Amino acid sequence: MKAVQYRTVGAAPEVVTLPDPEPGPGQVLLKVTAAGVCHSDIAVMSMPAGQLPFPLPLTLGHEGVGTVAALGAGVTGLAEGEAVAVYGPWGCGRCAKCAEGKENYCLRAAELGIRPPGLGAPGAMAEYLLVDDPRHLVPLGGLDPVRAVPLTDAGLTPYHAIRRSLGKLLPGSTVAVIGAGGLGHVAVQLLRAMTAARVVVLDVTEEKLALARAVGAHETVLSDASAAAAVRELTGGAGAQVVLDFVGAPPTVAAAGAMVAVEGDVTIVGLGGGTLPVGFGALPHEVSVAAPYWGTRAELIEVLDLARAGAVEVHVETYRIDEAPLAYERLHAGRVAGRAVILP
Ligand code: NAD
Ligand code: ZN
Ligand code: ZN
Repeated sequence: MKAVQYRTVGAAPEVVTLPDPEPGPGQVLLKVTAAGVCHSDIAVMSMPAGQLPFPLPLTLGHEGVGTVAALGAGVTGLAEGEAVAVYGPWGCGRCAKCAEGKENYCLRAAELGIRPPGLGAPGAMAEYLLVDDPRHLVPLGGLDPVRAVPLTDAGLTPYHAIRRSLGKLLPGSTVAVIGAGGLGHVAVQLLRAMTAARVVVLDVTEEKLALARAVGAHETVLSDASAAAAVRELTGGAGAQVVLDFVGAPPTVAAAGAMVAVEGDVTIVGLGGGTLPVGFGALPHEVSVAAPYWGTRAELIEVLDLARAGAVEVHVETYRIDEAPLAYERLHAGRVAGRAVILP
């Protein structure tokens, strides 16, 4: 089969031919219909050799949808040909967090060497994907696979981040979304569907701000040195009750801290390496800062339900598998509108 692999530290991903995988006991083999391209892959491919938490080569792709191609020994309850989405943050399935469906916070994954597909285990950017357990699969239920595949991360991650702050997203409140890319443009739609908050979006280009308005942003602000002051002005000085930072770089995290309201939430989703000091006087009173990771299995089911209800429409650019390196180049250059999706 063809697969897109990160093979050499610092080099671009490559399209290679690998043997077709076969499902072992308890596993499910998927014929991949679509795989999403996430900026986290670029973060991984920017790490120096010593920091990379898994060996190379790595088949990329932690957003995947497919149809069931074959069942390993002992697997029941799934039919060949069934269309499914992959819940990516695999855990042990047995610890207290996994029991709650929070496999993204599995207590034993590190110790057991369990890693998500595309982030340690072979990923979805290939013709076939091996899934370790049928519990990682959620029925697509009629959703278009190409538009649905980003929901497994670019939908699930902002959904989880928004849920943490739902109690603060009351009528009359303001939420600032920093970065209107793959995750951010879905976040705007989720906020509009789930809350009555006013949504203010920040990004660095007019194209990205136009996309943000097209998917429901009430206001857009160019993300420069005066952005925090602009958000304060839009809120009559109060600031935003919730700031979702989908960049997470030192300047955006600093801006998030400067635009958040008293008792507000700053949620750092982006992997840009920025940190925010917390301590008396460092931020407005009683601000809470969190850096969540992905989302729960139940939340993926909820996000797919929202999409089936028509509340979320992911903007996608599609690429053939041979064009995957180009998709990464375009994402790196900030040229992708919405989410890039690879069709193997
Ligand atoms: P993306 O490239 O599609 O979107 C990023 C957006 O941010 C782009 O529109 C870009 O123009 C904009 N941007 C860049 N610099 C900016 C600035 N200074 N101010 C405002 N906007 C700016 O990336 P994505 O795939 O949506 O991922 C977003 C971030 O979230 C990445 O850092 C990714 O690694 C991270 N991520 C984290 C999790 C998690 O679980 N915490 C999950 C998925 C992705
Ligand atoms: Zn991702
Ligand atoms: Zn676990």
